[in-house]
Amino acid sequence: MNATFAHAIPLASPLRPVIERVETALIDLPTIRPHKLSVVTMNGQTLMLVKIHCSDGVTGIGEGTTIGGLAYGGESPESMKLAIDTYFAPLMAGQDATAVRPLMLRIGKMVKDNRFAKSAVETALLDAQGKRLSLPVSELFGGRMRGRLPVAWTLASGDTAKDIAEAEMMLALKRHRIFKLKIGARSPAADVAHVAAIKRALGDRGAVRVDVNMAWSETDAAYGMAALADAGCELVEQPVATAAGLARLVRRFPVALMADESLQGPESAFEIARVAGADVFAIKIEQSGGLFNAQRVAAIAEAAGIGLYGGTMLEGVVGTIASAQLFATFTQLQWGTELFGPLLLTEEILATPLDYSDFELTVPAGPGLGITLDEDRVAFFTRSKARKTTSVAL
Ligand SMILES: [Mg+2]
Repeated sequence: MNATFAHAIPLASPLRPVIERVETALIDLPTIRPHKLSVVTMNGQTLMLVKIHCSDGVTGIGEGTTIGGLAYGGESPESMKLAIDTYFAPLMAGQDATAVRPLMLRIGKMVKDNRFAKSAVETALLDAQGKRLSLPVSELFGGRMRGRLPVAWTLASGDTAKDIAEAEMMLALKRHRIFKLKIGARSPAADVAHVAAIKRALGDRGAVRVDVNMAWSETDAAYGMAALADAGCELVEQPVATAAGLARLVRRFPVALMADESLQGPESAFEIARVAGADVFAIKIEQSGGLFNAQRVAAIAEAAGIGLYGGTMLEGVVGTIASAQLFATFTQLQWGTELFGPLLLTEEILATPLDYSDFELTVPAGPGLGITLDEDRVAFFTRSKARKTTSVAL
């Protein structure tokens, strides 16, 4: 008797589809306006798209995207493309395309870190598997609890009057009624005045939250969180850089504290939960290292009584919908999502645009991710080989 349990792997046919080819491309898209964070101002977004072609004719798509190239973390769209082309693809070629977890484990043994690239590849494998089984990705995760997700909007022009006008427009359009302000680039006092003015203008019509993107010292945060609570702000996201700093701030002020940058997958989630170091987790599939790991982060939060918020790395349509498919399956999603990435881009690359209406995003119901790329549009915005060359004027 064979004790390896190889026979336990599903086995309807020895001819299970295998991965034939892995294709990557960089898609450069303009943004509707400069997007200001404490770390960077973005004027465009680059999507790294990966396509996994399988022997049964199914192709899965995935996306890796960062905020401001290398401004946010150790990976960039360019580095993801290189890593997948050079290291992931040879590990995947000829492997069973339906064995998503074993294949991700195989990749994980040979490729350390690279969480964003892993998320892109895992998304493509799940999209392919969903298409193969005629099921949305959400059903591969046990089924959706909701078909629509509330979507926050980030006001990031840096100008108070412009931000108020933008919020009013979003309310009138019924696109968003949760507003997140990117602060931390100016003094805490100037930032608090900015937030307070916006909350005063919106009143009960809109929720106001802030993201400091780690820009504050703990002293700044002690002042800032108290003042923000007074201003009617309901949530402060990652005011300081470290998880230990977050733990020292939590529950000291009547405003929820959310971990974002400190949250980089299940191990970090466990450490934060262990010391009750946050009220809310901003779950991101890329930061977590893929959808399976993001699901584990959600389980840790739920066990620890920590609220959930569906975060974004400002992904385009593919990464956004991969996130939405998973977030739809969470038992609780108390703080909604910020899956507005596609709305920040001026160009549509889907055959059928996403449905953002009545303050929510509809999670597509078709097989896999449930979206179809407009290949002509994608080709048009694909970075050409010629642009890879950087010439230096001497
Ligand atoms: Mg954040």
